[in-house]
Amino acid sequence: MRIEQSPEFQIHLQTLRSKEELFLETIYNVGNGHFGVRDSNPLQGNNHDYIGSPGLFINGFFDYEEVAYGEKYRGYPDNNQGINRLFDPRFIRIKVGNEDSLTDHFKVENIDKNLDMQTGLLHELFSVTTPGNRNFNLVVESFASLSKLNVYGVRYSVIPTNFSDEIEVIKVHDYVNQTVHQQDEDVRVSTDLGQMQLDFIPDNGQPSYLVTTFRSQQGAIITYQASENFAPNPPIEYFRDDNHHYGYRSKYYAKPGSAKDFEFLFAIGDIHPLVNANMYSDQYLSSLNNYINDTTFKSDLMASAQVWQTFWLHSDVEIDGDPALQLCVRFNLFELNQSAGRDALTSIPAKGLTGNGYGGHFFWDTEIFMLPFFTYTQPEVAKDLLMFRYHTLQIAKEQASDFGLGKGAMYPWRTINGYESSAYWLAGQAQFHINADIAFAVEQYYEITSDDDFIRDYGFEIILETARFWMEYGNYAELDGKRQFVLNRVTGPDEYSALVDNNYYTNVLAQSNLRLAVKYVRKFKGDDGILSRLHVTDDEIDAMEKAANAMYLPYDKEKNVKLQFQNFEQLPKMDISAIDQSMFPLLLHYHPLMLYRHQVNKQADTIMVDFMFPEGNTLDQLKADYEFYEPITTHDSSLSKAIYAIIAARIGKDQQAYNFFSQAVQTDLMDVHHNTKNGIHAGSLGAAWEGIMYGFAGIVNNATSFSLEPHLPSTWNCLKFKVHLYGNEFKFTIYQDSVEVELLSGEGTDITVYSHRKHLTPDNNRETWQY
Ligand code: BGC
Repeated sequence: MRIEQSPEFQIHLQTLRSKEELFLETIYNVGNGHFGVRDSNPLQGNNHDYIGSPGLFINGFFDYEEVAYGEKYRGYPDNNQGINRLFDPRFIRIKVGNEDSLTDHFKVENIDKNLDMQTGLLHELFSVTTPGNRNFNLVVESFASLSKLNVYGVRYSVIPTNFSDEIEVIKVHDYVNQTVHQQDEDVRVSTDLGQMQLDFIPDNGQPSYLVTTFRSQQGAIITYQASENFAPNPPIEYFRDDNHHYGYRSKYYAKPGSAKDFEFLFAIGDIHPLVNANMYSDQYLSSLNNYINDTTFKSDLMASAQVWQTFWLHSDVEIDGDPALQLCVRFNLFELNQSAGRDALTSIPAKGLTGNGYGGHFFWDTEIFMLPFFTYTQPEVAKDLLMFRYHTLQIAKEQASDFGLGKGAMYPWRTINGYESSAYWLAGQAQFHINADIAFAVEQYYEITSDDDFIRDYGFEIILETARFWMEYGNYAELDGKRQFVLNRVTGPDEYSALVDNNYYTNVLAQSNLRLAVKYVRKFKGDDGILSRLHVTDDEIDAMEKAANAMYLPYDKEKNVKLQFQNFEQLPKMDISAIDQSMFPLLLHYHPLMLYRHQVNKQADTIMVDFMFPEGNTLDQLKADYEFYEPITTHDSSLSKAIYAIIAARIGKDQQAYNFFSQAVQTDLMDVHHNTKNGIHAGSLGAAWEGIMYGFAGIVNNATSFSLEPHLPSTWNCLKFKVHLYGNEFKFTIYQDSVEVELLSGEGTDITVYSHRKHLTPDNNRETWQY
C-alpha cells in the first residue's frame, strides 16, 4: 500500500507559528491511547544539559506520593497520583571517531519536521554538529501503531556531510526515570515522581526490561528489536555492556553523503500488578515478542496507516472555505484519537499522553467534552471509555462510604486508578457534578448507539449508584415558600467559585441523573434479576422521582437569568476588562478566595446547561444567560470558549460564535494558552469538535430522533461529516442554504432539519433539505 501525502493532513514545521522546543515536543508527539511519546532531541537521553522534557507515557502507568497537607482532616485524599514519565524511546547514542554524543555536547538543530496525520508517521531531519565540527544529518521516523497498540517504531538514518570516519550507533536504554529540564511555576504542571525501577530481563536475544513502580505496585514489560540490516546498511549486533546493560550497536566507516539506516520496533507491554509482573515476566515477554517478531518497521507502519485511513474515512470533518481552521480541526481529531484508552481500564488524561500536566489524571473532560466525538464516530472506543467508569464503580462506592454516605457511588474528580487524587479538595473532590456527568454520558452513549446490552449490564448500574449519591448528599429545605430539594456546599464546573449552595449546573445534572435512574428502573421492571441484585425498591425510586421534581434551581427573576448558584447575585462583579492582560489566567495571580467572593468565571458553568439541555429553553432565555455570563467569564480554562461558541451560534451572534470557535479550535496548534509545551489540552480539542457539531451544524439528539439547525459561518461553503446513529452511519453535507444526508449503512431512521422530518432507508438513502 502506498499513501499519497495530502497537504491537508500535514503538520509541517514551517507552518507552525512557534518553533519553541518544548512546544514542538508536544505537537510532534505520537501515541495510540496505550502510550504516547513526546518528540525530543534524540540525542538528549538523560543528559541534564539539554533543554527538553521528553518521555514515554503509558496510559494508566502511574505512581503516587502522599499529599503533604499542613492540616489534614478526615477524608482528605491521601495520595497524589502521577502518570510516569519513562525513558525516551527515541534516544540514540552516536559516536563519531572519538567524539561521543553521550559525553560531548553535540549541537542538534531542527531542520525539518512533518507529521503526516493520514498515516501517523512523524518524519524529522536534524542537523548534528560535533564539538570537532563534524556534521551529519540525522533522519528520524517514528510512529505509534494503531493496529497493534503495543508497538512503537523508530528508524534512524545517519548521513555524514563533511567527514569520513568511524561511526558507532548505540541503542541502549539503561535508565527508566526520564530527566527533564523544565522549570515551571504553573500549578497545573506536575512534577515527575521518578520512582520507577528498571530491571533487565537477561539473555533474551534482545533488550528486555521489567519496569516496576514503587508505591502503586505496577509492572510493565518493555522490549525492542533491531530489524535485521541488509547491505548497504552495516550489520547491527546485540551486546551487553560493562554494566550488564543490553542493547544494540553498529560500527562502520562512514563517508560524506552515505546514508545508513537502523530500525527498531518496541513492544510496550500492558500494565500488570507487580506480583504478576514479577512472576510471569517471561510469559508476558514472549507474548509481547509476538508483536514484533517476523515483522518490519515498514509493514507495521503500513498496517497502522491503514487504521488511520479508516479513522479519517469515518471521523473526518471537512470544512470548505477555511483552510487554516481545517488543519486545526484535523490536528485536534488526530490528537483525540491518539489519546483515548481502548482497554476499558483507562480513559483520556487531560493532557492526552503528551505530558504529565494535571498529573495525567482523568477528569469530567472525557465524559463531557471528548466522549461525544467518539460516541458519534467510534462507538466502540466510547464504550471502552465508559467501561473504565464501570470498572471503577466499586471504588466509587467505597469512596462514598468512606466519605460517610450510606449508599451510592462517589466518583473521583480526578484520578488514574479510580481513587480521588485532588489535593485541593475545594476545587477538586467537591466537584460532585462528576457523578452526574458520567451518568449523562452513559445516557448520551445509549441514545446515540441504542446499545441495549451496555445499558442493561453496565450503564444502568452507574446511573443508579450515582443517583443514590444525590439522594444521600442532598436534603429538603423550605425555599421560596416551597419544600425543595437542595444540594448545598458543592463546587460547580467553574473553578473561580467553590463550595457554593445549589450550583445551577450541578442541580440540573443531578436532577437528570435521578430521572434517568427512575426511567431505567421502570424499563427494567420486568427484569427482576437486575433490580433485586441492585436492591432497588419502589420506595427508593419514588423518593428519587420526588427529589428530582423538587430540585431547587436558583433563578434571578428580575434579570431573567439562571443563577450560577444561590445568592450569586449578591457578589460584586469583577471588572475583568480592567485587569491587565499579564494577570491572566487569574488563578496564577489571585488568592482563590479573592476570586470566590466575586462574580467572575473561569469557564462556562451555567452556560453548560444551556448547551447540554437545549430543550425547553426559549431563545430569550439563552440570550439572557449568554449576555449575563459572557462579560464575567475569563475563559482561563481552555474548555470554555467552544461552549460559548455553541450558544452564540444558537442565538444568532454569528461573529462571536466564529471568534470563540476559532480560538478554541486553535488551542494547541497555535498555542493559544501559551502552555501547549506541557501537553495538549485534550478536553479543549473535544470541545472544539462539539463547537462544530452542536454549534454550527446545530445537532440535537435524543433516543428517538436526530435533528439539525445549522448556523454555518458565512465564510464556510460547506461542512461535511459522518456520524453513527442508532446502528446506522450517515453522511451529512451542510451548505449555507441546504443540507444533504446520505445513509451509508444500516436500516435507516428519521432525520429532522429545521423541524422538517424525513425518513431515510436503504432504498431511499439520500435526502436534501432546502431552507
Ligand atoms: C478546568 C476543569 C478541567 C481541568 C482539566 C481545569 O482548568 O477548570 O474544568 O476539568 O482543568 O482539564
